Amino acid sequence: MAKCRVCDREAWVKIPWANTWFCREHFIEYFERKVWRTFSKYVSRNHEKILFTVSGGKDSLALLYSLAPRLVREGYSVSVLFIDLGIRGYSEHARGIVKEHVESLGLELIVFDLKKEYGFTIDDLAFAVYNHLFNRPVCSLCGVIKRYIYNLVAYKRDYDLIVTGHNLNDTYGFIMSALTTGQVSELIKFKPYISGGEGFIAKAKPLFFNYEYENRLYTIAKDVKVILHPCPHAPREEHGLVSSYKKQLRILEKNHPGIGLMFVKNILRNVIEPLSKVVQEKRERKLVKCSICGMPASTDPCSFCRIKIKIDKIKTKSYTS
Ligand SMILES: [Zn+2]
Ligand SMILES: [Zn+2]
Repeated sequence: MAKCRVCDREAWVKIPWANTWFCREHFIEYFERKVWRTFSKYVSRNHEKILFTVSGGKDSLALLYSLAPRLVREGYSVSVLFIDLGIRGYSEHARGIVKEHVESLGLELIVFDLKKEYGFTIDDLAFAVYNHLFNRPVCSLCGVIKRYIYNLVAYKRDYDLIVTGHNLNDTYGFIMSALTTGQVSELIKFKPYISGGEGFIAKAKPLFFNYEYENRLYTIAKDVKVILHPCPHAPREEHGLVSSYKKQLRILEKNHPGIGLMFVKNILRNVIEPLSKVVQEKRERKLVKCSICGMPASTDPCSFCRIKIKIDKIKTKSYTS
């Protein structure tokens, strides 16, 4: 019988890359300490008002439970943002789950309803994508929209830090995909912390060094109900580059436990951090103000407004014809 490394009781879980076993209680302790270590090592001490973005999935809920109570104890003001993307048979369910958890933690919940605020849903967007009206996949467009809303809500309500639940598997997929397509300057986005300025709110990814496996285990250990089925639009992305690399990582980890963690740690230190010093300086000079929404952007109109203009046009056409 395998035993917990800390207390010698019967083990509940194995951490393959550390070749370590934990009982349930000490796994929770290990997880929370790890998340806190990432947060305190990378995130600036100058923040006060923190906005958690929570989708109802395992990652964002693992992050919320493992970090938010600690931040509240440390004196930070913490709220949660949920975006209702209007995905049929999915968003409503997610909204209910998130509401339940946020209430049980005694935090403030901000719900941003995409349809109410902007008149379209991700289902509308998906319909347009399947009809070849956009030349980007739904998940990539949805990502642009979510990032825009995170920043907008944080900016308008004076939050100074946005935290998201990106896990190590996602980051591995994004980094490998950026390398494969030669978009090396994109690598600077993949850091545990990006400082803010000029209308951009600072961002932290405290699960940067956490495998999705760990996050899922934490929600099981803590009995946190999460949405288990994937977004209905996700299967269409299965053959995308990022997904392929995430699959590859799962295979690699079987024979080389910890390889993904080692890769992400090393590329962050040896490539991404030195590179971001060079690229960021160049980028700052190129910022413009979007003439439609007034938010800072690298293009005018900003990428969100360009999506919105296109979807508005498509909707007007389909209603009138
Ligand atoms: Zn133990
Ligand atoms: Zn705009």
